[in-house]
Amino acid sequence: MADNVTKVVLDESEIPTHWYNIVADFPTPPPPPLNPATREPLAPDDLAAIFPMGLIEQEASTERWIEIPAAVREVYRLWRPSPLYRARRLEAALETPARIYYKYEGASPVGSHKTNSAVPQAYYNKLAGRTRLTTETGAGQWGSALAFAAETFGLACDVFQVRSTYEGKPYRRMLMQTFGATVTPSPSDTTDAGREMQRRFPDTPGSLGMAISEAVEEAAKDPNASYSLGSVLNHVALHQTIIGQEALKQLDAFDEARPDYLFACAGGGSNLAGIAFPFIRENLEGRAQTQIVACEPAAAPSLTQGEYRYDHGDVAGLTPLLKMYTLGADFVPSPVHAGGLRFHGMAPLVSHAYDSGLLSAIALGQREAFEAGVLFSRTEGIVPASESNHAIAGAVRRARQAKEEGSEEVIVIGVSGSGQLDLPAYADFLAGTMMDA
Ligand SMILES: *Cc1c(COP(=O)(O)O)cnc(C)c1O
Repeated sequence: MADNVTKVVLDESEIPTHWYNIVADFPTPPPPPLNPATREPLAPDDLAAIFPMGLIEQEASTERWIEIPAAVREVYRLWRPSPLYRARRLEAALETPARIYYKYEGASPVGSHKTNSAVPQAYYNKLAGRTRLTTETGAGQWGSALAFAAETFGLACDVFQVRSTYEGKPYRRMLMQTFGATVTPSPSDTTDAGREMQRRFPDTPGSLGMAISEAVEEAAKDPNASYSLGSVLNHVALHQTIIGQEALKQLDAFDEARPDYLFACAGGGSNLAGIAFPFIRENLEGRAQTQIVACEPAAAPSLTQGEYRYDHGDVAGLTPLLKMYTLGADFVPSPVHAGGLRFHGMAPLVSHAYDSGLLSAIALGQREAFEAGVLFSRTEGIVPASESNHAIAGAVRRARQAKEEGSEEVIVIGVSGSGQLDLPAYADFLAGTMMDA
């Protein structure tokens, strides 16, 4: 390959045909989810009121490869395969001997990796005869991804959006509405859980945990409705693994051996799982020794400061008990800009990988994250999502270290999304008024 190649764009025929299920390769099995009432391992039927069977099967599957339905791959063609770039200009600005690559998920219909799971979730619901999806959203990335996917398969979509972002960041609400969704600020007075939360926490800015309670209640009340979750659960992590599979092929096309480091931001854990699990497989099979680094926000440091225990995904305690690194289901993080990272827990599969020593984690303040995001914007010409900046900052730290050590290593960054709708956060940073939570 020529010396100055800057990106590898695979042909549409190379969209992966299967999702990769890391459960088949874990050295020890991950702890099962528990029924919140009995504390017994969850039975598939326990989830049937809120999820379609196709997704419940994936949630519990131990098969290594799960075929991607043709109808889903057809929709993936709109933006996949996503590009892998060599960050030559960032390398030059850092004067690092490291070779830095980034996998960019920002060119999807809503500008993030979220559509990779929203589309199959809508598909399996359609297949099961459901007509309506309910969900929660923080900054609006997941809500807009599901709104798009629901519309694609002819389903209605009701989104509960954390009140602070509903009011403070209207553009993704408008995006959801443009795709045909109904958006309600949470906590709302339309559900029992919402009314209870308003009573317990008057004037609350809302949280993902609260919005999840409302969306789950809505789905449980309506036999034609399902609940959809944009992160955390096994089937969501599974759907995202097309990212890492493509990246492995693209690194091959760059004639690059397996990377030394892989950085991805971690909120609920789905983009991290998506890019990292296929690389962890390479490590487990003895083909690589890539150090996987989860980059979490200092404001919600579930891996680096949470406890590994069973906890609920929501505040009202309606979701199954998941064994995960958690800060506690009623933890309300400070209102940092990276809304997609403000979740109290970490995906059970990512938690199990961390507990098994298959990945490490660091926590970064948002000023360091945005400093890296501005550098990335000015060199690579892409303004990254607030969340993605945490991964970029982790990689920048490492690339500076590589400069000191004279190390010609290979670093891969998962850039989970575009920051075009996060520009007020950039303005806050540039004005010097950003809190360093
Ligand atoms: C939602 C989101 C995240 C955080 O969610 P994960 O499940 O941890 O991936 C990160 N980046 C972007 C762009 C997002 O939209």
